[in-house]
Amino acid sequence: MPDIYPAGDEVITIWLTTGRRVPPGGIPLNIGVVVNNVQTLINVARAVKGTPVTTRTLTVTGAVKVPKTVTVPIGTSLRDVLELAGGIDQDLTYLSGGPMMGTLITDLSTPVTKTTGGLIGLPKDHPLIKRKSMTVETVLRIAKTVCEQCSFCTELCPRHIIGHELSPHRLIRAVNYKNVGNPSLVTSTLTCSECGVCEAYACPVGISPLRVNMALKAELRAKGIKYQGELGKVDPMAKHRLIPSSRLMDRLRLRPWYKEAPLSLEVYQPEEVTLKLQQHIGAPAVPVVKVGDVVSVGQLVGEIPVEVLGARVHASIGGTVTQITPQTITIRKGGAAK
Ligand code: SF4
Ligand code: SF4
Repeated sequence: MPDIYPAGDEVITIWLTTGRRVPPGGIPLNIGVVVNNVQTLINVARAVKGTPVTTRTLTVTGAVKVPKTVTVPIGTSLRDVLELAGGIDQDLTYLSGGPMMGTLITDLSTPVTKTTGGLIGLPKDHPLIKRKSMTVETVLRIAKTVCEQCSFCTELCPRHIIGHELSPHRLIRAVNYKNVGNPSLVTSTLTCSECGVCEAYACPVGISPLRVNMALKAELRAKGIKYQGELGKVDPMAKHRLIPSSRLMDRLRLRPWYKEAPLSLEVYQPEEVTLKLQQHIGAPAVPVVKVGDVVSVGQLVGEIPVEVLGARVHASIGGTVTQITPQTITIRKGGAAK
């Protein structure tokens, strides 16, 4: 595969590797394909042997003192993870996930879950941080004031170029002019992958069609509205519209913080972990332990509720259950119950 963004969007991965196209609103299985990342496949292999998921490997990089890739028990606080990369720097803001799709971390006590991506530290005045800090109201105001309908956002939208109806410039127009547009155009926002190309790379005037889409999606989902639309033609220039990673890095002004983050083979051992009962789609797990119970690594602590979709939660360190809330179970190494 070429080194382009968004190679990690499974719809684009499938198209580049097999030539097949996932229909808008569809899933890879619709066209006979399943995509998994490496860590998931490793965990599936372990699960087949009866070993539960108790650790997460993640990269801590950017402007942190010691970029590295670490393995930590699930439930370790992000603060503890950052300590492994040289400690917390008050001049930095941290992102959970990648630079394009990652979200600002507002609470460093947030625990690592089965799906936590990497962590990135960037100076507080970095353009990426400033953009992600904008309120939706500001984003909408900018869109209304300066969108010139140049359509660059649509021409580079990875979903649009492979034949999806999604057209961010038309969605911006629909929002600016009070939902002028056909219903299928508006609901096509539900097929946006939130890759951020329109916001971070395409738009010449700093508008975020991505954030507008996110706001629209939330509204449509709350109303239970779904998208129904057909797969159109591939843009004949599609392969030339994909973004080389190195060019994206320069555009995002990330070059100074692009550093090796070597893998540490040790598994960090925190004093305490907080396990979220919902780290997955479906219903939250139900605690099957009580405060004061002594648990060992891999022991079941949260069970799937009866007859619903969910996932089990297991102790990621050995210790004592010190707190149970409707959302979490806290385990402390040899700690006393609260
Ligand atoms: S690229 Fe920016 S200015 Fe151009 S149509 Fe899209 S949102 Fe508007
Ligand atoms: S974030 Fe923008 S570029 Fe990416 S899929 Fe959504 S509309 Fe297209």
